[in-house]
Order: sequence, then C-alpha cells, then structure tokens
Amino acid sequence: MAIPTKDIPPPPEPAAGSDQLEALYQRLEERVRQSRPNEDLEPLRRAYEFALHLHAGQTRDSGEPYMAHPLEVTIILAGMMMDQVTLIAGILHDVVEDTPVKNDEIKKRFGEDVARIVDGVTKLSKIQFYSREDRQAENVRKMLLAMVSDVRVIIVKLADRIHNCRTLDGIKDPERRKRIAQETMEIYAPIANRLGMGKVRGELEDLSFRHLDPEAFTQVIHEIETTRQASEGFLVNVKQIVESKLKENGIPARVEARMKRPYSVYVKLQKQRIGIDQVYDLLAMRIITDSVKNCYAALGVIHNEWHPIPGRIKDFIAIPRPNLYQSLHTSVMGPDGQPFEVQFRTEEMHRVAEEGIAAHWKYKEGKRGQAGDERVNWMRQLVEWQKEMRDPTDFMSTLKRDLNTEEVYCFTPGGKVIMLAQGGCPVDFAYAVHSDIGHLCVGAKVNGRIVPLKYELKNGDVVEILTQAGHSPSKDWLSFVKSSKARNRIRHFINATERVKAIEIGQKYLEKEARRLGVALSKVSKEQLESVAGEYGYPKIEDLHAALGYGKNSARQVLHRLAPETVTETEPEKPEPEKPSKFNAESDQDLVLSVDGMNDLMINLARCCNPIKGEPIVGYISRGKGVTVHAKSCKNVENLMYEAERRINVDWTRTTGRSFRVRMTVYSDDRLGMLNQITSILFAENSNIQSLETRDDTDRGEGKIIDVTTDVRDKKQLEKITATLRRVSGVRHVDRVQ
Ligand code: MN
Repeated sequence: MAIPTKDIPPPPEPAAGSDQLEALYQRLEERVRQSRPNEDLEPLRRAYEFALHLHAGQTRDSGEPYMAHPLEVTIILAGMMMDQVTLIAGILHDVVEDTPVKNDEIKKRFGEDVARIVDGVTKLSKIQFYSREDRQAENVRKMLLAMVSDVRVIIVKLADRIHNCRTLDGIKDPERRKRIAQETMEIYAPIANRLGMGKVRGELEDLSFRHLDPEAFTQVIHEIETTRQASEGFLVNVKQIVESKLKENGIPARVEARMKRPYSVYVKLQKQRIGIDQVYDLLAMRIITDSVKNCYAALGVIHNEWHPIPGRIKDFIAIPRPNLYQSLHTSVMGPDGQPFEVQFRTEEMHRVAEEGIAAHWKYKEGKRGQAGDERVNWMRQLVEWQKEMRDPTDFMSTLKRDLNTEEVYCFTPGGKVIMLAQGGCPVDFAYAVHSDIGHLCVGAKVNGRIVPLKYELKNGDVVEILTQAGHSPSKDWLSFVKSSKARNRIRHFINATERVKAIEIGQKYLEKEARRLGVALSKVSKEQLESVAGEYGYPKIEDLHAALGYGKNSARQVLHRLAPETVTETEPEKPEPEKPSKFNAESDQDLVLSVDGMNDLMINLARCCNPIKGEPIVGYISRGKGVTVHAKSCKNVENLMYEAERRINVDWTRTTGRSFRVRMTVYSDDRLGMLNQITSILFAENSNIQSLETRDDTDRGEGKIIDVTTDVRDKKQLEKITATLRRVSGVRHVDRVQ
C-alpha cells in the first residue's frame, strides 16, 4: 500500500471520553483482523490518532465525542471487508469538512487514494438534495464524477449515512431529522440499490421509514411480528422438509428462513392495497447451493413438494437485474394453504446480492475503476450525458428517474433479452440494442404485429425494429421515450445536427454579408478571424460560425471588427427598401443549403405558407431560430426580404423521407358517397388523412365544403391528388389553403 509513513502528528492530548474512543478503535482493529489477520494496521492507527487530535473537543448532538462517529463508520466499512485505503478514508471522512485541515495535508500524509476519497465524501456532504434543483444539479454531477472515478467514495458515504441514520434519534431538530431521512430514502437507498448493495439499502430504507412515518412503521412492525409468531412453527417445519428433500436429491445447500423487511412490506401493502396475509413473500426460504444447475434442480424439488403459484416464478439467473442481482424466485402454496416464497442462488450470487459493488473490494484489493461494471456504467453514462443537457433540472429528473424505475424484459426476434425501464417503447428498445438501430428506427413489430413507436412494451414482448437507411431521429420521440439512453442519444443527435447546420449557415451568412459590404474575406487571415472569435468568447472560428448561424451574433458586427474602415457598426439609413425583385435574381453564387425536411432542426418551415417539397423556396435567417424556409410565393417573403443580408438560398434535397402537411378545401355538390370517394383517393395515394370535416356551402345553397388536412410527400403528389379530386363528378373546386 502506497501510504507514506513520514510526518507522524504529535501524540494526541488525552481528551474527554478517550477511553471509550480507544475501546471503539480496538473494536475496529478486531473487526479488520477477523478477515485479514496479517495486515499491517499501522497506517490505520496513524489515521485514527491524526483524526482524534483534529476532532478533539468536538461533540455530536447526542453529547458524545465527535470521534465516535468516524470510528463507527469505519467499523461498518470493516464489516463490509473494505480495503485499508477505504478504512483510512472512513476515519478521516469528516476531517476536511469539520476541521482546519486541507485535502493536500491528507494527500501528503496518507496518499493520493485516501485524499481523493475524502475529497469526494466532503463534496458529497455539501449537497442539499432538497434545495433548488438547478443549482444542485452541478453538485450532484460532481458527486457522480467522484463516484465514477472511485466508487469507494460512495461506499464511505453510504457507511456514513448508515451511522447517521442509526443515530437519528440523537438529532434534536425534528426538521433536520426528517430531511436526512427523506434524502436517505430518495437518494441514498436507491443508489445503494443500483450498486447492488442489498443489505445497505435494506437498512437505510428501514431506518428512514421509521422517521418518515413512525405510525406506519409501528403498525407494520406489529403486523410482521404477529405473523412471525404465528408462523414460527410453520417456518421450522418447512425448513426441515426443505432440508431433507434437498438432501434426498443430493443437492448440497444451506437453507435460511427470513421475514420480509418492514419497509418493503409497507411498500407492497401500499402498492397492491392488500392485507398482510396476501403478501406471498412475507415469509421466504432462501436456498443457497453450489452451482447454477443445482439452483434449478432445487426449484424442481420444491415444485414437486408444493404447488407453485402461477405467475410467481422469476428467473433473475438467466436475466440478472441491472444491479447484477441474480436469483431464482418462486412462490408455493405451503402446508395448510400458507403461501411462501423460495429463492435459489449460489454462494457467489448471494454475496453479490448482499454486498453488491462492495464485494469487489474484498478480493481485488486496491483496484479501482471497474471499467466494465454495469453498476458503475450507468453513472458514468449519466455524467457523460449530463454534459449535453442544456437544462440542469433535466439532470436531477434523469437521476431520480434512473434510480427509481423498475424494469421490463423484452426479447429481440433472435431471443436476446433487452431490459427497459417500465413504460419503455420500441424506440427505447431500439436504442438499447444499438444507437444506430435507434437512429434508423422507423417502425416496430411487437409479437408479429405492427405497433406505433410510442407503444408501451410489456414483459415478454418480442420486439422487431424496422429500420430505414438514412432515417434520422425525431424530436417528437423525446416526448415518449423512457430510458435515459434513448433520450440522450436522440438529444445528442439533434444537437449535433443542429450545430453542423448552424456552422454551415453561419459561414454562408458571413460570406454573403462580406460580399455585400465589400469585405474580401479571402484576404482575412485565419488568425484575424480567430482573434475576433476570441473577442466574442468563442474558442474556435467554428464556434463563431455556429453563433452566427444560431442568430446569436450579427454578421455585420463581426465584419465591422474585421474591417472597421470598410464596414460601419450599424447599417446606414437607406432611403428605399430594396425591392423583392432582387431576391428573384438567381445570380447569387452561394452554395445552396439543403432542406432535408428536418423542421425540428435549424431549419423551420414557415407556418404562414407551409411550403412542401418541390415548391420554390427561400430561406431567411431569423434571430435565434436558425433558418425559416418560406415558399417563394409567400406574401411575407416580400416584407422579410427587406433585410436582404438575412436571405439565404435553400433547396430541397432528394433524399427526404418526411411528409408535409397540407390543408385543402374541396367544394362539391351535396351527394351521397362524396366523402367516401375523396377518402379512397387519398388512401390510394397512401396519403395520411389528419382530419376531414364537412360543412354547408352557404354561398351556393345546396353545395358542401369539405376541409381536408392530409400529408403528402411533395408538390408532385399534391398536384396528382388535386387533379384526381377535380375529376370526381360533382367536385367543383379544389383549393390548397395557405
Ligand atoms: Mn460523517
């Protein structure tokens, strides 16, 4: 272990309660020696004396010496068989927070690893999860960063939280007590769960439950206790039967009988609105055996003895939970019609279920990172994704959602299991398979049937994703996807595409303005442009272009800085606005910006004229909204184009798969079957009808007016549809409404 031995602090002053503290420290050492009898504990002792010296004179709310707290925390850590680096960090975890010592000092005395963990825990302590979320998000991100860089930070923090919760009664302020309990319930217990630390999670939940709802707690405890006393004999009896049956079948196993924990009983009672006698897993047998094969064999033995309750078999061995929990669960109708749950697992699975990520530290001492560990990966992804989130409150909601969702298990057509957040849809599924599949996803079949993309998937669904080359994600998807992965991949894609567009637009905008104002951009050096970008606070020219494209800055201002003698800061007063005829002249040699039908990106189709593919169009750079695309025939264009420098050439690309919404008005005779005929024409064209309404043509007396809103691919298709409609007998006019 890389712990320097120099700089031993002066021996501590004997403080009040020092005998009690020394006894606690002895307990700690004993605890460590139980699993590692030969380890040199001199560094631990040194840390203890250092902390004792620093915390001297401080007391907790309960009146006992403060030092008792870090010692108890470290005893908890020793119980988890954590390595000595973690133990030392446990002893020192409040030193930076509560004493004048700085982190550098810790690093000098105890090494980098200890210092990093203490630093992480200190940062964590400063987070108030229940103050304004947008300010806190950054702190939570820091915490996650710390956790990702070394998961021992959160393990120490969880041990700290366990001890704080065990001693909550000692806190005098009831508000503070409640806040700690709530934070534990909503943040720390779920984090422990995500890290697979079942035992820690259980204790944290039960401790905070007691303080959050003392009445309910007492009630549940009472009911559990009553049931337990009534079923004491039952459990002993069942355990004996189980043990002998397993022995008969040659399955080596250890059998444990247990009662469900108070908080999970409470949740079940609340959620399912049932009585305690209907909680199937209130009583559980746990069969711990030597191999996966024997887990299934034992399941067979149990099912042979008692009837399984349908729908209660859960195979978390074949499909581990995201926190890597593995076990086989079943519920059976026991003797006297008393149902109970049985869990089957190997020793290794048991260890993982109880200790989760902490189990790593026992055997792989001193190793950090666990790059491939899924339990850490979700945090790593969360931190990475956070960088892309513009709204910090998104981060808190993503975190809370990620911590508190249950999963749904679906299958690919090839039988691979895909785990999704509850409420997940085919888009979530597609992204869970692969980001590229998500991006290209255009439809889905569930159990062989076509379903909408927002369809809510259920356990066991077989999902086939239909993809199309060249397709790209839609912003609408954000309104119904449930997984952070899908949400973030979609956002990332949209942001990246927006930025590429913005850069392209900005560059053209600048070139165009330069030409108009007589600045030779070709003579401007890269350095000059870079320095102007710098003046605006952009690190790269690209960023300046993007800002111009987003409409954040004006091209004239930039050019003014580049060539102050040629370009004035503001446009000189013009006697007459330029005539629209100017923009009709196609002399402009600008590269043409393509419109790929992505109205949710940097290019928006103007609502006034709603241009469709195939129509002549023109682009206009609007402030902060990128380019708005109008039909050239649009009335608004004339007015907008007074600011000629904001005009930009646009054209339709050939590869667009999107459709365009058009409104049409059909004037017709009032005759039977007219509507039918109109709809079949649209159906035949595969045109998606959005709405269809009939009203009387009051101008013409007996005529009818039919308003149709439908989707078309392009101008050509619209023309074909209108022509066909006009040929229908009884149709007088067909107008497009713009
Ligand atoms: Mn503490």
